[in-house]
Amino acid sequence: MSGHASTLRRADNALLLSDVHLSAARPDISERFLHCLHQQLRGVDQLFILGDLFELWIGDDAADALADELGSSLAAIAATGVQIHFMHGNRDFLLGTQYAAKAGMQLLPDPSIVVSGQRRILLAHGDAWCTDDLPYQALRRQVRDPAWQREFLALSPAQRLAMAQQARDASRNHTSQASEDIMDVNPDQVVHAFAQHQVDCIIHGHTHRPADHRHAEGLRHVLGDWYQHSSWLRLRAGELSRHGRVLTSAG
Ligand code: MN
Repeated sequence: MSGHASTLRRADNALLLSDVHLSAARPDISERFLHCLHQQLRGVDQLFILGDLFELWIGDDAADALADELGSSLAAIAATGVQIHFMHGNRDFLLGTQYAAKAGMQLLPDPSIVVSGQRRILLAHGDAWCTDDLPYQALRRQVRDPAWQREFLALSPAQRLAMAQQARDASRNHTSQASEDIMDVNPDQVVHAFAQHQVDCIIHGHTHRPADHRHAEGLRHVLGDWYQHSSWLRLRAGELSRHGRVLTSAG
């Protein structure tokens, strides 16, 4: 598993979400997402996007109209004083500094620790813990390699798109009808993450299985996808709530 989590930061007044999977084919999701941000970000200092904001990202230079518009909306939110932190998912791991800057987002390493109240919380996308899916982990190692990424980004957008679609088809064949997104995290990896990072709470997405798990080592909150509904967590000085329902009192 990956080494040390990034620099500690405080998150005493934050909104967290993941797996929006924005795409031109689903304008309803973009609409839901922007509507939710408009409503839920009032009075919030920080927004944490924990990966897979986009259904597919093949490079900042290939951003489509939807990405341009969304980037402008996020930049406008950032201009009001909301810090936007973006962590890569397995769909948008190629989102780079150029687009992030345009959208007013800061790139956040996976995993990262935040401190809220007295609580230490580990934030992750979650795919790195899905270690039971060996072919996926092999693919992950390949596409997260900087040399592979340089080569890939040097191809034309059309070539990149073709390769991405090929990889998607291969993955679909491998997992039959279950996509890589619905493989769950490995329990041993979760236990290891609590200990390695000395946290009492983990928040991640990726599995599209929103739930609040109680482990011996601490709490694990899984964010949901946005295909049919919005899905977010609110963090206030150690107190976590899901859609307004309090999950944990301030720690
Ligand atoms: Mn994912």
